Amino acid sequence: MDQSAAPKVSFVSLGCPKALVDSERIITRLRAEGYELARKHDGADLVIVNTCGFLDSAKQESLGAIGEAMAENGKVIVTGCMGAEPEQIEKAYPNVLSITGPQQYESVLEAVHRAVPPVHNPHLDLLPPQGIKLTPRHYAYLKISEGCNNRCTFCIIPKLRGDLVSRQANDVLREAERLVAAGVKELLVVSQDTSAYGIDLKYATSPWKDREVRAKFYDLARELGELGAWVRLQYVYPYPHVDEVIDLMSEGKVLPYLDIPFQHASPDVLKQMRRPAAQDKTLARIKAWREQCPDLTLRSTFIVGFPGETDSDFQYLLDWLDEAQIDRLGCFKYEPVAGATSNNLEGAVPEETKTARWNALMARQKKISAQRLKRKVGTRQQVIIDEVGPSVAKGRSKADAPQIDGSVYVASRRPLKVGEIVTAKIESADEYDLHGTVAGF
Ligand code: SF4
Repeated sequence: MDQSAAPKVSFVSLGCPKALVDSERIITRLRAEGYELARKHDGADLVIVNTCGFLDSAKQESLGAIGEAMAENGKVIVTGCMGAEPEQIEKAYPNVLSITGPQQYESVLEAVHRAVPPVHNPHLDLLPPQGIKLTPRHYAYLKISEGCNNRCTFCIIPKLRGDLVSRQANDVLREAERLVAAGVKELLVVSQDTSAYGIDLKYATSPWKDREVRAKFYDLARELGELGAWVRLQYVYPYPHVDEVIDLMSEGKVLPYLDIPFQHASPDVLKQMRRPAAQDKTLARIKAWREQCPDLTLRSTFIVGFPGETDSDFQYLLDWLDEAQIDRLGCFKYEPVAGATSNNLEGAVPEETKTARWNALMARQKKISAQRLKRKVGTRQQVIIDEVGPSVAKGRSKADAPQIDGSVYVASRRPLKVGEIVTAKIESADEYDLHGTVAGF
């Protein structure tokens, strides 16, 4: 390595938005210390792979990424969820430099320092105060807590990440304010269980501006809503206090959007899954929320083929969907994860049945999605622009989270800019996307 040049690190970030936040934190620190990011493994001084270990397929993807880094570079540091159980990695790649679990930022940095010491350069040490974002500049994920107090039987996150540890409200708000000042227009609030925020802190208050703010879901959402950016709430469980946040949505303080991973509807399956808030009457709640806030968009994920799921459980789920009219839906076929307690449950569902149920659920949802989107034709929607083209730009309405939901394609006579929020008149809808023309800036 040329001793005068900044050391170059190639970074691979796998997994969910929460892992992306970890990656951003590590990169921010590395940039602050004068490291540069390399575009390719080949030619970099070392590679960091932030892994995901949630499902066996994610583990395979992580191992593949480590293998690639070993082949193309040879100096590899592994971190993230899969690092919590290092045996598999050590077995496949005994020569990786270090393996650490999620959120172990300090250990990752120590490993980097050992492998490639930092070079002091005052120009490189200058860092934008908002940190380095891997997400586009106009939106950013805001992680409000780590870990989880629930013990869903199919999930090993609590084992990997431990119990819930929330950030103080003013710490979250400071980060959010910095992001908005740096040009972020949309904040995506993430954690394993967003509505449980602050339980571990007993909702302690912390000073923010001229007031004290409680570390509580409602209070944090209200304060975030004052910052002038779109605020989108993800991974919310339907605990009773979520009802209060719907008020903030009707008032326009936070986006009328809730991402609630219901995972199933049948009481028997939910019980076997040990899902939080499963006992609540969700259909009645959803109805009440929509009455209170008619623009509310609901996103959810479901698992089909969970051990013991019968035909009638699955039919229950389909009927429930017809009633609930979930706007956006993701569905997974159940996969056993090493270390999950659901592996010991009886009644494994054959693969063909899982696939048939997956297809049936997605077909049902396609219809629901198309019907719900059709109701938007003729309306005006605010659209945040993600990608620009010569005459049509691709963006999202308040009802669409980045990467997981649909898009709004907007025609415009003047070229639009990424991150710009425009008003579009919606002219047509298909199953998942909307199409329209700019009607105002
Ligand atoms: S709520 Fe359940 S699925 Fe989500 S992280 Fe916690 S234990 Fe896992």
